[in-house]
Amino acid sequence: NREEFRILLLENVNQSGKEILNAEGYQVESLKSSLPEEELIKKIRNVHVLGIRSKTKLSEKVLKEAKHLIVVGCFCIGTNQVDLEYAARAGIAVFNSPFANSRSVAELVIGEIIVLARQLGDRSNELHKGTWNKVSAGCWEIRGKTLGIIGYGHIGSQLSVLAEAMGMNVIYYDVVNLMAMGTSRQVPTLKELLGNSDFVSCHVPELPETKNMIGVQEFEWMRTGSYLINASRGCVIDIPALVNASRNGKIAGAALDVYPSEPGGNGDYFHNELNCWAEDLRSLKNIILTPHIGGSTEEAQQAIGVEVSSALVKYVNSGVTLGAVNLPEVNLRSLTLDETNHARVIYIHHNVPGVLRKVNEILGDHNVEKQITDNKGDVAYLMADISNVLSSDLKDIADQLENLSSRILTRVLY
Ligand code: NAD
Repeated sequence: NREEFRILLLENVNQSGKEILNAEGYQVESLKSSLPEEELIKKIRNVHVLGIRSKTKLSEKVLKEAKHLIVVGCFCIGTNQVDLEYAARAGIAVFNSPFANSRSVAELVIGEIIVLARQLGDRSNELHKGTWNKVSAGCWEIRGKTLGIIGYGHIGSQLSVLAEAMGMNVIYYDVVNLMAMGTSRQVPTLKELLGNSDFVSCHVPELPETKNMIGVQEFEWMRTGSYLINASRGCVIDIPALVNASRNGKIAGAALDVYPSEPGGNGDYFHNELNCWAEDLRSLKNIILTPHIGGSTEEAQQAIGVEVSSALVKYVNSGVTLGAVNLPEVNLRSLTLDETNHARVIYIHHNVPGVLRKVNEILGDHNVEKQITDNKGDVAYLMADISNVLSSDLKDIADQLENLSSRILTRVLY
């Protein structure tokens, strides 16, 4: 029953997301900030759906209290703030919005390419201090220059299209073979990419293999006077090697949006003595330093609101887990709930042998029209559309499933 569904949104979730949830007729409470742990625990006991951003920590301790919670929407990219494993074992699905800000990042990088080529950061800083320094030496057009993209996924491929539109040649390196956009070209090795690029931009995920992917050796492979941009993850670039490559003139400039360690909130971070590398970075010429704002645009926030709220509605109303980060992605189309005598059974359970047989014994008196099951680690997700079922049968089906020892969470939608 939708009116009984209580949704709590924290951390000022975008209006676009709230509107979608309100339109569904759920009870939505929206708060501007995150909550201290004790208050969160009190509030979370009564809610079915929780929307958060990056500051709300959903630890096992907090989630344990969430007796009615079936789903968490992270209205952001990362999901580190949630104990995903515990959530899965408690049958709580978690969704996020990994790609809603890809375009914003690609546009930032385009801007940075021109800013670096024209040394705009330095000129602007100089004039802010009163110095008129009109130079053309070492300043370039970007037309006809080669951009090398490392990681040709959502952001890398968008960037490829934008860069070509400005007259750049594009090559890219990726661990998988990917279709080239426009007239761009995949190269077989990182070495080949670095040796042939005037601008190099990193767009790989944070993985053991991408840690310090651009280090001393890679800077040697780069063209003298080329530029490096990193708006992916801070661990991808070996900062001391970058500082060295900048000081000895190997690279003519760099733009960093991400760092090996980043603060939780705004403040005087780059003065912090703990970041020994911060002082070095600040001293370099033609380097743009931004505080992880690649995806920080009004459009991206709005897109995140729409994407996450839509996933929440789909999950609540039909159990579809497409895009869930901690449960298997399961989808059955043509939900015929509007027809009488139809129901959808969702059974989240421990991934142990023999469950299907027991579930089908319970569902067996009805016509199982479609059924799908998948697992992620220890947790499995079963969805079955059944017909020939009376509303009076539903409680009995739910009770029998709940009594199985494999049960984590049962939902019957009708
Ligand atoms: P994506 O998953 O769509 O693409 C990543 C690509 O990198 C894939 O094509 C993958 O095959 C490739 N790849 C993986 N390992 C590789 C390796 N060792 N060598 C070469 N290629 C490799 O990711 P995306 O959405 O394009 O995001 C890219 C990066 O940008 C991620 O690290 C993401 O966290 C980061 N990001 C940053 C911001 C920001 O605000 N600065 C915003 C969004 C995303």
